[in-house]
Amino acid sequence: MSDCLFCKIARKEIPAQIVFDEGDVLAFKDVRPQAPVHVLIIPKKHLARVLDLSTEDAPVLGDSWGGNALADRFSVRESGFRLVVNNGPDAGQAVAHLHFHFLAGRPLRWPPG
Ligand code: AMP
Ligand code: ZN
Repeated sequence: MSDCLFCKIARKEIPAQIVFDEGDVLAFKDVRPQAPVHVLIIPKKHLARVLDLSTEDAPVLGDSWGGNALADRFSVRESGFRLVVNNGPDAGQAVAHLHFHFLAGRPLRWPPG
């Protein structure tokens, strides 16, 4: 996807504060953080939404998904974190490239907005 923002970040054509880059997965800081720690985890492969994941994408959710690295990097393994995926208009998905929001560093209210 030549004009997809997160594909451009994955190809390093647009700068981002990358915190994890391994195999099929990239993680970078959100430009408008909603918590002290707000990182987006993406598959480098273009998938528009979480509904497009298939079994061949297992690494994105498997051993190399990045969550363990982020939990250690930001020392939130015990204090906790939240993973959020927005899918579609009602959820406010703004970027049509699958991304997991990794939020941590403050108490996170429930239910979310
Ligand atoms: P969503 O509403 O789930 O699609 O989330 C999109 C997220 O991408 C928002 O939290 C934005 O702040 C974030 N975002 C947009 N552009 C960039 C960028 N160039 N680098 C990092 N994060 C971005
Ligand atoms: Zn993309």
